Amino acid sequence: MKSFIEVKNDSDFPLQNLPYGIFAKDENEIPHAGTAIGDYIFDLTAAEKKGLINSEDTAGKKVFTNGTLNEFMSCSKEVHREFRKIITSLLDENNPKLRDNKELRSECLIKMENVKMQMPVQIGDYTDFYSSKQHATNVGIMFRGKENALMPNWLHIPVAYHGRASSVVISGTDIVRPKGQTKAEDAEMPSFGPSRLLDFELETGFFIGKGNKLGDPISIENASDHIFGMVLVNDWSARDIQKWEYVPLGPFLGKNFATSISPWIVTMEALEPFRIRGEKQEPEPLPYLKSSGNNSFNIKLDVYIKPKDSDKEELISESNFKNLYWDIYQQLAHHTVNGCNMKTGDLLASGTISGPDKYSYGSLLELTWRGSEPIKLSSGDELKFLRDGDELIIKGYCQGDCYRIGFGEVRGKILPAK
Ligand code: MN
Repeated sequence: MKSFIEVKNDSDFPLQNLPYGIFAKDENEIPHAGTAIGDYIFDLTAAEKKGLINSEDTAGKKVFTNGTLNEFMSCSKEVHREFRKIITSLLDENNPKLRDNKELRSECLIKMENVKMQMPVQIGDYTDFYSSKQHATNVGIMFRGKENALMPNWLHIPVAYHGRASSVVISGTDIVRPKGQTKAEDAEMPSFGPSRLLDFELETGFFIGKGNKLGDPISIENASDHIFGMVLVNDWSARDIQKWEYVPLGPFLGKNFATSISPWIVTMEALEPFRIRGEKQEPEPLPYLKSSGNNSFNIKLDVYIKPKDSDKEELISESNFKNLYWDIYQQLAHHTVNGCNMKTGDLLASGTISGPDKYSYGSLLELTWRGSEPIKLSSGDELKFLRDGDELIIKGYCQGDCYRIGFGEVRGKILPAK
């Protein structure tokens, strides 16, 4: 399967991917919906205007007109599959309709470098899970000691907290160092000031397509009908603020100052060929959480830092989505089992995805073991936590034969506290 648009082997966006995003040429333009193909964006809003696609026919309503993907995401899986078929056919190398029509091509195919990606979804609610066993164990050891590393509930429920949707930002948005209350181990009283232990968290997140009614749980068998697609997530964390505030109600200001996401939503249909078995679950979860088959995905996740005063991105961690203990279907079934309703556009993030060894940890807290084992940068500098001017980049992709299903990247640069 190939497009008439040239796609390099290491491009994140071959014809097999077709992720959805929102973009604009400048501030004056109402944002358009599009799908990525090679270095181009196929403009779905323009394609609809030109009669290449007709969402009223396919979805029963106009879905690409209002500058977010919510309308489109709220459609059924059948509608999403139908659109995927239509777009695949329009971009196929054997279809002359767009390929041989110079005017249509110039209207509907836009160079990625000429636009700015926008927030693709109006996010109603944001939940962050804590689903990597290695991460939960590492943090547990650091804060509570080896004997009590995993809390007694951890192997029985996908632990999570409600995050803040208003501060979810698109890749490329600068992150202002948060201020807050912290208390040093040996201090008698807390103090106030800029966070000194600013960290990233390597995560992915999935977006809810079709929601559920309040009081009607989504069963694990039906969970996949409600999941639209996935993005990369950096769940920025101020460890010192978090440590002082989190007892007894959990994360608050140490978390809600910013969460960054990648701009392209990779659909579950595109990820389908990369399904693999998840981690073995012992003890067996309760029946409502019982998951079977290949319910994880083989997604390589790389973390880079572009240190302040440097032009070079340096690889600091290599992890994989498959390192999650709880899968996305279990997360969704658990989240709604009490009757909690999901709405189209809700974001559910995985929690920090740490692998089994030191080079696959998903946060600086773990990579530097709370700052006690700093990372040596190529400049000779030592990195413990994020400094003003540092830029953090997460990339992710599934590697197929001669093609990859990529997520692009999520990046953010730390600005000094205000
Ligand atoms: Mn997190």
